[in-house]
Amino acid sequence: MKILTTIEAIQNYATSCKTQGKTIALVPTMGALHEGHLTLMRAARKKCDIVIASVFVNPTQFGPNEDYDAYPRQFEADCEKLESVAVDAVFHPEPTEMYPEGYCTYVNVEGDITHKLCGAQRPGHFRGVATVVTKLINLSRADEAFFGQKDAQQVTVIRRFVEDLNINVHINMVPIAREENGLARSSRNSYLSTEEKNAALVLSRSLKQAKAAFSQGETEVTALENIVRQELGKEPLAHIDYVKAYAYPSLKPLKQVNEDTLLAIAVKIGKTRLIDNVILSA
Ligand code: AMP
Repeated sequence: MKILTTIEAIQNYATSCKTQGKTIALVPTMGALHEGHLTLMRAARKKCDIVIASVFVNPTQFGPNEDYDAYPRQFEADCEKLESVAVDAVFHPEPTEMYPEGYCTYVNVEGDITHKLCGAQRPGHFRGVATVVTKLINLSRADEAFFGQKDAQQVTVIRRFVEDLNINVHINMVPIAREENGLARSSRNSYLSTEEKNAALVLSRSLKQAKAAFSQGETEVTALENIVRQELGKEPLAHIDYVKAYAYPSLKPLKQVNEDTLLAIAVKIGKTRLIDNVILSA
């Protein structure tokens, strides 16, 4: 597996792949890789000749009081995992390589889709995401890019700017990988103590209950949100940031689940903010 750390190196690599007529898949990550990331790599592997992963803790998507400094960094272990799923190249730049002195251009997706859910809680987050993903797509010359349903709002935002800016890439969304006990896999799970990890099971449990109620005929959005809130409320270590359902992928408000609907939650367990969701298919 090639390790690329400079803009020039990834550009040269992408150009040589293209010259050979190869298709390129991009899988952006912030590292501390787990099975969730690897499901994205496998999906990319199936679809394209070349898979380029990126491992970059992107400073522009973190707020001033968020966990940028504490975010787990374990590049060597990440490389072993990427090799195990036959990734061709990993792009691992320093922040100054991506944002050198004088850098001042950002991709800002305006409007409703970035102002709700995680966008309401994390001002500037999607501006940072949209900026880095635009740069990574340009650099890798990707035909296909892969993202997880775990960050379903992010996928809506990325699809929006890809369409608006006429970027020639196809965006793929891969289902959430979970531990056997239901917990959505996340690099931030490593912050949790054993007690908190047990408490965190309430996220997937609450969504499962809402999904079961939906299967049994409950289609009222507030009723489904309340089922989730009630279950979360039983766990003393859980503090709700939001529990909200929106039409998916548009993220438009709705009262009844009469189209595909994202039921999304953000919950703090101790100091760790976790997100999870289900998509209810109408
Ligand atoms: P991150 O490293 O957390 O920025 O995530 C990189 C990519 O992996 C994003 O597209 C995430 O949505 C995706 N991802 C993270 N966790 C999971 C998971 N449990 N299942 C599927 N995709 C995931």
